[in-house]
Amino acid sequence: MAKIGINIATGSLQQAEMIVGIDLGTTNSLVAIIHPETKLPTALREFDGSSIVPSVVHFDAYGNVQVGEQAKPYLESDPKNTIFSAKRLMGKSYKDIQTHQDFFAYKVIDDNTESLVKVQVGNKFYSPIELSSYILEELKKRAEHILKTPVTKAVITVPAYFNDAQRQATRDAGKLAGLDVLRIINEPTAASLAYGLGLDPAEEKTIAVYDLGGGTFDISILKISNGVFEVLSTNGDTYLGGDDLDRAIIEYWLKQFAIDNLDQHIELKQQLRLAAEQAKIALSTKDVFETKFGGETISITKQVFENLIHPIVQKTINCCTNAMRDAGLKAIDINTVLMVGGSTRVPLVKQTVATFFNQPVNDSVNPDEVVALGAAVQADILAGNNVSMLLLDVTPLSLGIETMGGLMDVLLPRNSKIPTQAGRQYTTQKDAQSGINIAVFQGERDLVKDNRKLGEFTLKGIPSMPAGLPKVEVTFLINADGILQVKAKELRSGVTQSIDIKPQYGLTDDEVEQRLLDSITHAKSDIAMRALVVASTEAAQLLAVTEKFLAKNAVILTQAELLETAGAMQALQLAITMEDKDLIQTKTEELNDISRPFAERAMDQAISGALKGKDIQQI
Ligand code: ADP
Ligand code: MG
Repeated sequence: MAKIGINIATGSLQQAEMIVGIDLGTTNSLVAIIHPETKLPTALREFDGSSIVPSVVHFDAYGNVQVGEQAKPYLESDPKNTIFSAKRLMGKSYKDIQTHQDFFAYKVIDDNTESLVKVQVGNKFYSPIELSSYILEELKKRAEHILKTPVTKAVITVPAYFNDAQRQATRDAGKLAGLDVLRIINEPTAASLAYGLGLDPAEEKTIAVYDLGGGTFDISILKISNGVFEVLSTNGDTYLGGDDLDRAIIEYWLKQFAIDNLDQHIELKQQLRLAAEQAKIALSTKDVFETKFGGETISITKQVFENLIHPIVQKTINCCTNAMRDAGLKAIDINTVLMVGGSTRVPLVKQTVATFFNQPVNDSVNPDEVVALGAAVQADILAGNNVSMLLLDVTPLSLGIETMGGLMDVLLPRNSKIPTQAGRQYTTQKDAQSGINIAVFQGERDLVKDNRKLGEFTLKGIPSMPAGLPKVEVTFLINADGILQVKAKELRSGVTQSIDIKPQYGLTDDEVEQRLLDSITHAKSDIAMRALVVASTEAAQLLAVTEKFLAKNAVILTQAELLETAGAMQALQLAITMEDKDLIQTKTEELNDISRPFAERAMDQAISGALKGKDIQQI
């Protein structure tokens, strides 16, 4: 029976619960929905019109937590207790960020370099997941206040290069904030959706998404076909953004107006930083900016500003060059260039990007909001309001398990559309083997040792059976967020075991790229290696079978035959040790030739024995 809800605040009948779209940004975060009346993606706004919540969390001495605009002033006045850029720490170990330690004004714990980072505030420790959850909680609260209805379901965006660990961390942060995260989607994919790209299943397009935010720069080249968004390449700089533009202005002012070192004057330093950001924003639409600082007038012209930031903008263009090279594309192949992130409002940025791609850029959707708006479009599709659409993403690297000899057996090839499922049957190597180890790997190389291990588990309780008899079905299931579940089931007995893969660390996008490159450069040696492993495995099996045969049937062989067999076995063993594929194959053949007649003889004996009415001997 359907339940009808009544909105207590308004007394009206409540609509089906809204799924919100959330841009959880490094600098700023916000929530958007599809407006129930206009059906247009719309950012949620406070009465003052603001949609953006700075991604800043402040903890006071009494344990109170402040988030957003109220927390921002503490960045200068109470830096040790004020957390910014928590997104940079998601799913990371200290090892991952140690070269950027100076960037964080708060304490990032470095006692155990192998585990995930924590942040110390006073005598408390917070994980990046908890820190992000404070921001999400604030966004949820705001949304509920504005919509006057509970908000419990959300789509959250992440950078395209976020790995499994970072995606899982984002999902966990949502859970902690009381949100059911229905889907994690890539920021450039969201931006495309906000522009209405990919909504027509017949459309095929290649797009560049240029995202310059507060502290990060991302360029993504996407291909959309049949509603599938494929990330062709990503590039960027995780320490380059609007903050660098502000800093350039501050340095200019310090020099130009001979302002003393402000390190001892936190108030003044803060004031100057705010003035610099104001100047930058003003210069996006004006030619000069002027303000008062310490009783004096300071100013900057657009011309000076553009000269200052030219090298910064050029850096982003270098990243674009790399991304295009990796995607194997030229400017002419790009159908649309989308501008995302507050810093793309700077005219010089727009011009430079337009020149690079040799076409006008698309900036008609508010660049601060475009990612959240796209998340709202996705949320609406999930709510079933836009049933014609099915959005798919793809797996960046192949997924498989380790099989005999350390070989990678791929179940899901790279670029599989997700959600997806694949299964394959395996069996045991030894008699009465009661457990089978399932080790899951990601990568393109033939040997698992060259790929990345995602996790492993043991299927236990397989009933005693001869080697090769149990049928173990391994299934890979990737849900729409790209999170992998691996299940193993022994079909004869029904014993089952499964894990969700939540790796401790993921790969950086550089590592993904490196792995793909490796798989190409090593393709030849990998094929040779695989052939060797297959030959050795077969040989080892033949040796085991022969040994077993001899243990039972030595009596039917002559002394000479026994010697010949032992010699052939030794030769094969030696060939395996020498890792000589051709020799292994020759020696395998030889042993086979010698032992085949024995098996026939044993069979004949058994049969003639049976004819004589004696017991049949099992071989
Ligand atoms: P993120 O995605 O990293 O969370 P945003 O996309 O919200 O960040 O971008 C924030 C940055 O955009 C800040 O550095 C801010 O100063 C800058 N910004 C916002 N509006 C303008 C503008 N009109 N001109 C130039 N920069 C702007
Ligand atoms: Mg952003």
